[in-house]
Amino acid sequence: MLAVKESVALAPLTTFRIGGEARYFVEVKTEDQLREAVAWAKEKNVRSVILAGGSNVLVPDEGIDGLVIRVALIDHSFAGNELAADAGCNLLGLIRESAERNWGGWEKLAGIPGTIGGAARGNAGAFGSEIRDIITKVRAFDTETGEMREFENIVCDFSYRHSFFKDNPEWVITRAIIELKPSQYDISYALIEETIKEREKRHLQNVKAAGSFFMNPVAPQAIVDMFEKEKGVKSRESRVPAGWLIEKAGMKGAQVGGAIASLQHPNYIVNTGTATANDVRTLADKIKDEVKKQFHITLQEEATII
Ligand SMILES: Cc1cc2nc3c(=O)[nH]c(=O)nc-3n(C[C@H](O)[C@H](O)[C@H](O)COP(=O)(O)OP(=O)(O)OC[C@H]3O[C@@H](n4cnc5c(N)ncnc54)[C@H](O)[C@@H]3O)c2cc1C
Repeated sequence: MLAVKESVALAPLTTFRIGGEARYFVEVKTEDQLREAVAWAKEKNVRSVILAGGSNVLVPDEGIDGLVIRVALIDHSFAGNELAADAGCNLLGLIRESAERNWGGWEKLAGIPGTIGGAARGNAGAFGSEIRDIITKVRAFDTETGEMREFENIVCDFSYRHSFFKDNPEWVITRAIIELKPSQYDISYALIEETIKEREKRHLQNVKAAGSFFMNPVAPQAIVDMFEKEKGVKSRESRVPAGWLIEKAGMKGAQVGGAIASLQHPNYIVNTGTATANDVRTLADKIKDEVKKQFHITLQEEATII
């Protein structure tokens, strides 16, 4: 039996801590429950919205007039170097547990908040590693047709912060198969801790935000050259950091209501405590306008604005 609740506050379920209530809300712990929840929404004739760790979403102030389905499938098992993990498993928890079993290869993803399903959907990455590097297969459910399908890595269409699932939100990831590399607990543990410390040093952790608000855009060569000269680092895929552009555009520290373009990491829009979704969106639009005006580059949101 599905336990659908009414009028559930969503802000506490997001790292932004912003947004109104879900008219209907349910946590699904199995694929069958996911299927049931989707059918329930169809029956009620309301839209369904998928929420997982809530670390890359902006919920509107007026809330969501539909059924919010929280992905809470958390079974996982190891067989040799293969980890089969349900979509709702916490990413850091899996990385730590793998290390305890002397498996590694994904330690640089440690500290990215949220679930393995959310990470696969957005091809989450940090410090040169991406989730696509270790995913071999993804299992997903088509909420429109009811089909359950396995996708090999190659057909997931992974690229920078992108996957097939991002373009096709009717597919909900239920499970990921991950291939790990042999490691030693102390080596993996040290790498995990080092990565988290580095993230803390760069103020990438423990803030009311949704991570990088914009994706790093592909830039014209002249801007790539400017970036490389100024920072002494090579651009990847002709992309430049959105945070660097935001700072250059004079928008670092820009504020609308309770939302600020972080002084430490301008591509983070941070809720100083009282921000509304409207503040965040207005600030994001101002940042986009300024970057467009000065660099002729259109920034694209990485966070999902529901
Ligand atoms: C402090 C901070 C630091 C961050 N650092 C990084 C970083 O270094 N690198 C990085 O890549 N990201 C980073 N992020 C962003 C975020 O953590 C990742 O995007 C994460 O992978 C999102 O997972 P989630 O479970 O929280 O997804 P949610 O935020 O719950 O959902 C995000 C989107 O994915 C969809 N979704 C979620 N689960 C599924 C599923 N199972 N199937 C289909 N669609 C689904 C949702 O509908 C929504 O559209 C950071 C965020 C914060 C708050």
